[in-house]
Amino acid sequence: MTDSKHIETLTIHAGKIKDKQFGALSTPIFQTSTFTFENVQQGSARFMGEEEGFIYGRLGNPTVRELELRMAALEFTEDAAAFGSGMGAVSATLLANVSHGDHVVASAALYGCTFALLNHKFADFGIEVSFVDMTNENEIRAAIKENTKVIYFETPVNPNLVVIDIAMIAKIAKDHRLISIVDNTFMSPALQNPAKFGIDLIIHSATKYLNGHGDVIAGITCGSKEQIENIKLTTLKDMGAVMSPQDAWLVIRGLKTLSVRVERHCSNAQRVAEYLEAHPRIKQVNYPGLKSHQGYSLLGQQMRSGGGIMAFEIEGSFDDAVHFMNNLKMCSIAVSLGDAETLIQHPASMTHSPYEPEERAAAGISETLVRLSVGLENVEDIIADLAQSLESMENRLKQVI
Ligand SMILES: *Cc1c(COP(=O)(O)O)cnc(C)c1O
Repeated sequence: MTDSKHIETLTIHAGKIKDKQFGALSTPIFQTSTFTFENVQQGSARFMGEEEGFIYGRLGNPTVRELELRMAALEFTEDAAAFGSGMGAVSATLLANVSHGDHVVASAALYGCTFALLNHKFADFGIEVSFVDMTNENEIRAAIKENTKVIYFETPVNPNLVVIDIAMIAKIAKDHRLISIVDNTFMSPALQNPAKFGIDLIIHSATKYLNGHGDVIAGITCGSKEQIENIKLTTLKDMGAVMSPQDAWLVIRGLKTLSVRVERHCSNAQRVAEYLEAHPRIKQVNYPGLKSHQGYSLLGQQMRSGGGIMAFEIEGSFDDAVHFMNNLKMCSIAVSLGDAETLIQHPASMTHSPYEPEERAAAGISETLVRLSVGLENVEDIIADLAQSLESMENRLKQVI
């Protein structure tokens, strides 16, 4: 299956390993820890890499391998490696490419655990990190030093949905011979393919849109054959954050409906964002599909749609935001994103509660900012739930006055 096929077809067929023994349509789950050899010579040949085949579950599994091949096809890379979580993918991909004395240029705004890894743990290993505003080309170029090895970012950025120009980052990386790494979780390969712009390594938390049903923790990295082999033979094999065959099977099943799901997530999100933007109790809506958004000009250029996630600020206080959240009847209060259910979270009291209020303000996270992952329900029902809760806020405010 090649490049010329459309994404809707690729998500179903590309990378499939045909079951020659029984002709099973659905991928078999090879629930095995190890693989037997015909004889010692065969075992030896596999270990030496002289013969194709599986050895031991931490070094590879046929169900997991199929997911890797499917993801490589969807991200237009030569190969992919699967991990037991998105953070397993992030840490193994970074650590396979940097060592003591190296320097990383990273986006100032990142997924919380990625930020913690780069900001705290990397210092223990003697790896230096500079955090920069990735929308500012001069700032990025100024941060690059002799020992810079890697440039790391996400787009759109969590939680304010700022969009970073992928082609610009790829060019900077090429100019300075850096390895470019992007976390493509928020968009999924259905909406954005960073390899087409020259990014070297593409990471996904497969927990989110790829699986899409809120029942798996998993991660994937896509890249060149050489890069993936390096990761597999070092930080995947020896640090061991492998994906289980059962989880790989669930993600493969999720992938088959990726493009139809994402299409609905996007059309629902666009309607919800327009509704919220016009609502008097909403101060600001950050959604790349709105003309008012900083990233709108890159829509159609590097991303096929605005995606399914937005963040918005409620007019009022911290308590008003809490009241708004608690009065929702259908939307579930939960972190994570990309599931069938609409999920809502309040960074100031949840994901970013350990921050001091001033630190939150510096990161652009106000006390009333709410992040919404728009689900697959009927959009009228999602809007009705948001509307009834905003109305209950109005009534509460009237009582206070
Ligand atoms: C969830 C998430 C991760 C971490 O993935 P896990 O599967 O939870 O380990 C990394 N990056 C982004 C952008 C995420 O949303």
